[in-house]
Amino acid sequence: MNDGIEKFDLVIAGGGIVGATLACLLDELELRVALVEQRLPEEGELAFRGAELRFDARVSALNESSRQVLGDVGVWSGIRAARCCDYREMQVWDAEGTGSIHFSAAALGAESLGTIVENSIVLAELYERLRGQENLSIVSPFTSAALETGAGGEVVLVGESGRRLQAGLLVGADGGNSAVRRLAKISSAEWEYGQSALVTTVRTARSHELTAWQRFLETGPLAFLPLAAAEESEFRHSSIVWSTLPDEAEELVQMPDEQFRARLAAAIEHRLGDVEWSDRRYSFPLRQRHADSYVKDNIVLAGDAAHTIHPLAGQGVNLGVRDVAVLAEEIRAGLAAGRLLNDPVVLRRYERRRKIDNLGMMWAMEGLHRLFGAQPLPLRWLRNSGLNLVDRAAPLKNFLARRAIGV
Ligand SMILES: Cc1cc2nc3c(=O)[nH]c(=O)nc-3n(C[C@H](O)[C@H](O)[C@H](O)COP(=O)(O)OP(=O)(O)OC[C@H]3O[C@@H](n4cnc5c(N)ncnc54)[C@H](O)[C@@H]3O)c2cc1C
Repeated sequence: MNDGIEKFDLVIAGGGIVGATLACLLDELELRVALVEQRLPEEGELAFRGAELRFDARVSALNESSRQVLGDVGVWSGIRAARCCDYREMQVWDAEGTGSIHFSAAALGAESLGTIVENSIVLAELYERLRGQENLSIVSPFTSAALETGAGGEVVLVGESGRRLQAGLLVGADGGNSAVRRLAKISSAEWEYGQSALVTTVRTARSHELTAWQRFLETGPLAFLPLAAAEESEFRHSSIVWSTLPDEAEELVQMPDEQFRARLAAAIEHRLGDVEWSDRRYSFPLRQRHADSYVKDNIVLAGDAAHTIHPLAGQGVNLGVRDVAVLAEEIRAGLAAGRLLNDPVVLRRYERRRKIDNLGMMWAMEGLHRLFGAQPLPLRWLRNSGLNLVDRAAPLKNFLARRAIGV
């Protein structure tokens, strides 16, 4: 360290769900790993579990594949014990017509379609696990600011404070606005949806019945994702993701609580009765983005840094967790075969395996977004009859559902 550079085998930039999961997955490989994060959540922010009925506004619908990965690294039981909600049904319908589709876990021979869990709970469990991990340095606060090349061709990540971390492989898991992607000059295809997502938590008069409810409005989809409160047996809390025009999202964030609740209940056609309580509201602009390459020299991208998709099917975290599961698998196989961490053969195999899956999901989201955003009458007819047709065509419906739930 006499040259002022801290040396590691692998540096992960970004300690969100994707980066932190990768750090756990690498535990068994006895590599010197650094996980850098600009801002670790404070203890209080992670203490949603068990606290009076407060929920994190950011939730994820984890599928079977993600649950398995989180189980393999030993955090799933902690997440379950903290708070999460398995949902067994999904109701999707179109505000503009008569189309609707219904998915049920029982019809697929599965116990649930997925698990809704607050991101803060997943992160709390991951960090609890990581704090005891040998060979791992959690470097925070650290904001990635520059990339340099080390004397032996290694990559050096430079923080805003001037701190320098060198590694044979740098993984950019630093989210949609990835600094690593920008600093490495990896181009990406991007398109705005012209929509923002409003998120909040609500309590409704009626139970959500362990069902995810999604209505496609003219301006975008509105989802009620079921939450479980340990103190409650009635299941009346839901997480809201309401994608709409940016001006409307802003108006919904600013309006008085009573007015917002009435608008929301009407927008979901009062399926869950009145909205009795709502938490703070936030909104995010939505854009779809896909990096042209996931790999450049000894830098690799994963999670939202590589691909950001519309939240309408709640697949963002699932794709990212799959990315790092495959990356860890390829690194493990490469090391076992005597290859270097940054061997292009290893990294390209990761890229090939993940690009197909991620692009498939992105195009499916794009198709749904366009179909449901369409106003011309023939498209509206197609959408309504299409939804009803798929609803009646059991094999196609089961295929779509099995893919989404990750089995
Ligand atoms: C409204 C909304 C609802 C969503 N709902 C769902 C859902 O139901 N299910 C689902 O699967 N997905 C959902 N998603 C998507 C999901 O949130 C993302 O796909 C997921 O969070 C990506 O994880 P990540 O770890 O790749 O990135 P992030 O969660 O963005 O984490 C990146 C980390 O990197 C850190 N970082 C950033 N820049 C730097 C820097 N320069 N230096 C150091 N650290 C840095 C950040 O602080 C952060 O901790 C939703 C997204 C939105 C916007």
